[in-house]
Amino acid sequence: MRFLSSAQFIERSRVADEFVAPSAALANRLLAARGLGRLPPCTVSYFIEELHRPGAAIGLHTKGTAEIRLNLAWLAQLAQRGTDPEWEVAFVVLHEYAHFVLDLLEVRETGAGAVRQRIEAEHTGFLNRMRRLGWLADPVSRKLLSDHNSVAEEWYCDAFAYWAAGTLPEPHAAFLDELLAEVRGFPAG
Ligand SMILES: [Zn+2]
Repeated sequence: MRFLSSAQFIERSRVADEFVAPSAALANRLLAARGLGRLPPCTVSYFIEELHRPGAAIGLHTKGTAEIRLNLAWLAQLAQRGTDPEWEVAFVVLHEYAHFVLDLLEVRETGAGAVRQRIEAEHTGFLNRMRRLGWLADPVSRKLLSDHNSVAEEWYCDAFAYWAAGTLPEPHAAFLDELLAEVRGFPAG
């Protein structure tokens, strides 16, 4: 998530709602299957970044909530490409949801910064293993490296999305199982 200098929020769009509905349902199904079904489900609305800069944010999350906003311009592009948009959108929804889950973990952590330190250590381990073992052959690992290799929180969010889909390689899947153990079965509300 980045700071947006100028964005317009759009609560509903019939066309976008129809396009996004299967992805949001998929994201919520994956979260429930992973034992996170008692947390608030994600809800999706939209935004338009008024300066259409290259590398514009494609997703945002509202701090402390499971409310996710997707960039309408990005969705329109995706709809025209037509290559498995369902998972591409679900991936971004799950990435943004991961920021929300991190907020929950941080509220419950015993020492300030403890959760972030664990994520940073796991990310450093990932980078070291990538260098030593040449994990670049694995498409998930390659995506985790190429997009967010210097920002541990963003790396964790991408890893969370793959974890939810059951495609995150070990040892990181076990790390996320352990990190999220405490919010699995978290009481509703
Ligand atoms: Zn992010």
